[in-house]
Amino acid sequence: MAATVVVFDFDKTIIDVDSDNWVVDELGFTDLFNQLLPTMPWNSLMDRMMKEIHEQGRTIDDIVGALQRVPIHPRVVPAIKSAHALGCELRIVSDANLFFIETILEHLGLRNYFSEINTNPGFVDEEGRLRISPYHDFTKSSHGCTLCPPNMCKGLIIERIQAAIAKEGGSKKLIYLGDGAGDYCPSLKLTESDYVMPRKNFPVWELISRNPMVIKAEIHEWSDGEDLEHVLLEIVERITESSDSVALLAAAAANSNSNDCKFQTMAVAAAPLPPRPLSVRQ
Ligand SMILES: [Mg+2]
Ligand SMILES: [Zn+2]
Repeated sequence: MAATVVVFDFDKTIIDVDSDNWVVDELGFTDLFNQLLPTMPWNSLMDRMMKEIHEQGRTIDDIVGALQRVPIHPRVVPAIKSAHALGCELRIVSDANLFFIETILEHLGLRNYFSEINTNPGFVDEEGRLRISPYHDFTKSSHGCTLCPPNMCKGLIIERIQAAIAKEGGSKKLIYLGDGAGDYCPSLKLTESDYVMPRKNFPVWELISRNPMVIKAEIHEWSDGEDLEHVLLEIVERITESSDSVALLAAAAANSNSNDCKFQTMAVAAAPLPPRPLSVRQ
């Protein structure tokens, strides 16, 4: 069982650009996109752009071609493969869409490294037009979070992941990587035993830097793919070492005489526990 769950944002975290902007720009629809942006939510606009692109005679293959040209830092793919090899469970939480993300991951040979992709649905309809719909259907109800766009609260997704971990009875640690303002809400949901990796000088980093005290997780900034690889793998190795020593000590404790004071001292030194709340005696 993986001791660590690594949750990645996608745009400007795994890939070096925003996939929505990239496709629109590559297919030559930037002006129309900018013209319509003030009139509707981003997610609805992307579905509209796919309609325009389709009506102008551009095909799904044109979109796939653009996605396959997306720039990515050369150390990101090795970083993801190393984290997976070290036993981490990898997930994506993204406000892009499933079609873009799966197309890019398949192109990079990474699709099977991720156990879960939480994003806006995206599928090709019978006319060959890509349809993009909201992760959270805000026409029916609001998700209730004022920090996040109407179609997706990443914080709610993190809470669901945390609830699933708690149900399994495990003590998995989360590492969350992101760059955007939408990555701030999930960062606030992380606990003292988790880690957040905000991309330096990007919106989530600015938001965290304004008041780092409200973040319970350990904060480790990164600036490019090379940095991402170093920082991520260092955290993963640190978690692995501490969980290995706890497991080793637990196994030793099971075999040892309970009067072995030396071992108990060691256990305390190697795995410090938070102080217990004081109970008041009557
Ligand atoms: Mg992003
Ligand atoms: Zn939120």
